[in-house]
Amino acid sequence: MIDDVLPDYLPLSFLNQFAYCPRRFWLMYVQGEMEINAPVLEGQIRHERAHTPGKQMDEQGRTLRSVHVWSDRLRVSGIADFVEERGGGLIPVEHKRGKMGKWLNDHIQLCAQALCLEERTSETIEYGEIFYWSNRRRERVVFDEALRAKTAEVVQLVFTLLLDAHMPQPLDHAAKCRDCSLEPICLPRETLLLMREESV
Ligand code: SF4
Repeated sequence: MIDDVLPDYLPLSFLNQFAYCPRRFWLMYVQGEMEINAPVLEGQIRHERAHTPGKQMDEQGRTLRSVHVWSDRLRVSGIADFVEERGGGLIPVEHKRGKMGKWLNDHIQLCAQALCLEERTSETIEYGEIFYWSNRRRERVVFDEALRAKTAEVVQLVFTLLLDAHMPQPLDHAAKCRDCSLEPICLPRETLLLMREESV
């Protein structure tokens, strides 16, 4: 019964949205909202390029592009931008616009990809990398126990939210909201103000 209202598998990219802000996840996933500003458009174009399936070889090994990954245990699925085969191991590599974030959302998406790959291959994946286009740097993300646990927790929180079926309140977080493309739709300050007035 319960599973009738839940998706079989959550898209990996939406774990990223939830980890950034549950309300942003709700607006995008449940309500289908999308605000195409310049940074979003840039990210879409870069991802379209990365999402052409294929593979290439260099002196370090083979790189697979646009790899479909999934986990039956976590019930998540999606596309890994790149999976590099280095020294007998696998390294998921995600491309992101912008700079290294102050938040964990990109790490959680990458870790979820690694958990999917581990389930498919029975190999342990120790780390992945995020390539940031704005400064063209790679950040190594170690998949330690804390990040693995946090990632699994986020998956459960998303399913719980979908079952609960209530739009989350806005964040009271100026820095995150300033960088959020959905701010004009979400109206966090106005919504919080109204909520405070109603509670008086
Ligand atoms: S504007 Fe702020 S509260 Fe609203 S969705 Fe974006 S990050 Fe979340």
